Amino acid sequence: MSLGLPVTSCSINGAESDDAFKSRIIDAKEELGSRVMILGHHYQRDTIVEHADATGDSFTLSKMAAESTAEHIVFCGVHFMAESADILTNDEQIVSMPTTRAGCSMADMANVVDVEDCWYTLIEELGLQDPKSRPNPDEKASEEDNFLVPVTYMNSSAALKAFVGHHGGIVCTSTNAMGVIQWALDRAGGRGKVLFFPDQHLGRNTAFKMGFNEDEMVVWDPNNHPDIRDLESARFVLWHGYCSVHQRFTVEQIESLREECPGALIVVHPECESKVVAAADADGSTDFIRKYCAEAPSGSVIGVGTEINLVQRLNELYPDKEIHCLDDSICPCSTMYMIHPRFLAEQLESIIQGEDRNIIKIDKSTSDDAILALNRMLEV
Ligand code: SF4
Repeated sequence: MSLGLPVTSCSINGAESDDAFKSRIIDAKEELGSRVMILGHHYQRDTIVEHADATGDSFTLSKMAAESTAEHIVFCGVHFMAESADILTNDEQIVSMPTTRAGCSMADMANVVDVEDCWYTLIEELGLQDPKSRPNPDEKASEEDNFLVPVTYMNSSAALKAFVGHHGGIVCTSTNAMGVIQWALDRAGGRGKVLFFPDQHLGRNTAFKMGFNEDEMVVWDPNNHPDIRDLESARFVLWHGYCSVHQRFTVEQIESLREECPGALIVVHPECESKVVAAADADGSTDFIRKYCAEAPSGSVIGVGTEINLVQRLNELYPDKEIHCLDDSICPCSTMYMIHPRFLAEQLESIIQGEDRNIIKIDKSTSDDAILALNRMLEV
């Protein structure tokens, strides 16, 4: 099974080598000192992670940004992560990205216009109530209530987090999804529903873990609405979104590794399809996967269903174990991969020059509503 990455040498940089970018980054970091904090998501390539002051999943990194006193936060991840960091940091701190073209295809699958269309259709056609009509949307509802409570995964735009905050809803991560969905069900009331977006798989996998059945969930495809009658008895309306990286993992890959290496352990991310999660030994966030590999007995063979940069790093970190990506054909997240050392070097140098470049700034009204949804999550 191959663990190699696509060739990383500098096709985008002309004559300049990776070593030259590395020196430029080191020099610029040294000059900026404590003025700058570089955050690197687990899915970033090694030549970025080696310069990061902190690595982690999206929410951990945003919290680190909020706790930092650095004037500049350079976020090496995708767009929605830098947006969350801007929302959680103070007004004086400046959040930027090495390139703003690095988006997340899953986050892009739900936009405010489509979500509002779904929201008002459900409210009007099913007679559900908007939690914002309550004096206190944070209070538990009764068995007779029928509120529609929106829940958005961290992997969504600031505008959607603001929509959710405004309508009495909450944000979740892959670590806390179960507690957050229980919070939402308690606020929906006995006859209410949860609208979960954008990742249908995280929603479905979490609802399964909580004991719900497939027939209590309906998928909302904005281009092909489900029959409204099918929604009447559903407890969950799941947005038709998915991660193109995690969608690639299959039950056949798990079976093939188990056949090749009997006793192999399998751990996958809950953005994988539910049949893949069911076939695995464990599932959880990137931090969970990291700990699972760390704690597995020496000599273990572990098949991992998540992004290749993290899997390869784990394999190097634990040489006493054999850690494989389940997908032999290698699956980097193409948008995470847009963060190239050249762009990081240029971003740091532009900060030294005092240029306003690649800055991520969320307007106050969006930020105020989004923070309501984020704070509800922090209290769960
Ligand atoms: S791995 Fe999937 S969810 Fe994560 S940033 Fe890439 S496309 Fe988005």
